[in-house]
Amino acid sequence: MKERPSFPARMPASVSAKIAKPSAALNLPQGLGMDSSAVRRRMVEKLMAQGLSDLLVQQAMGAVERHRFVDSGLANQAYEDTSLPIGLGQTISKPSVVARMIELLRKGVDGRLGRVLEIGTGCGYQAAVLSQLATEVYSIERLRGLHDKARENLRPLRLTTVHLLFGDGMLGFPAGAPYAAIIAAAGGEAIPQTWIDQLAIGGRLIAPVVGKTGPANLKTGTTKGQSLVVLDKTAQGVRQTVLEAVHFVPLKSGVA
Ligand code: SAH
Repeated sequence: MKERPSFPARMPASVSAKIAKPSAALNLPQGLGMDSSAVRRRMVEKLMAQGLSDLLVQQAMGAVERHRFVDSGLANQAYEDTSLPIGLGQTISKPSVVARMIELLRKGVDGRLGRVLEIGTGCGYQAAVLSQLATEVYSIERLRGLHDKARENLRPLRLTTVHLLFGDGMLGFPAGAPYAAIIAAAGGEAIPQTWIDQLAIGGRLIAPVVGKTGPANLKTGTTKGQSLVVLDKTAQGVRQTVLEAVHFVPLKSGVA
């Protein structure tokens, strides 16, 4: 069952070397200890204990320095499994949610994903993780302040395969389509048709969606919560699977 676009598993050493800088070169904030890679290793071990089994996702989560994507005052919480404020009322997703979504995107794919579209760049953390696992990452943000912040956060990593776009992600990014995978970091009432149109045949989309009758809402008896939805596009049509309850910031249209 391997129908999705995939690429050889090996990451070019140049990419991983750029992301996982030697700790000696880091100016680590207080409370993070001498070597942030050890702290990340512990974070990955905890993710594995919660069920993260995909080796490439484990490596990517272990490589990207999450403390570089949050304000220095929050850096000592960067490797806890918690979402954190990134300004303008938005949040960086919990590591376990980032890992879970990317693991779901990679299910059934050997090696690297092809081109990936991310809706909601935020601080750029998830785009950096995705860059370890995909040939190209197109990431859209609707808030100018966060788009600029992500650019600043990612600049030192010199990830030539990450393309940051300022605009309304509801419209997707047709110039990069078709995508092997689409991942949304904000939840709307439905999955926009433009995303499905821009997904490759054999591609997979993952997004939080409000009011889906999934396990999340069956439990609470409401349709107000968000559930994680996986959508697979095949030559025969689309197949949607509703998974667990999640809490993402709202998907909004237009830019600001
Ligand atoms: N992946 C991000 C998570 C950021 S939170 C990270 O690693 O930090 C989700 C982001 O989605 C917010 O920054 C919000 O502004 C953005 N967003 C919401 N609706 C959007 C839309 N229509 N287009 C683009 N970005 C959107």
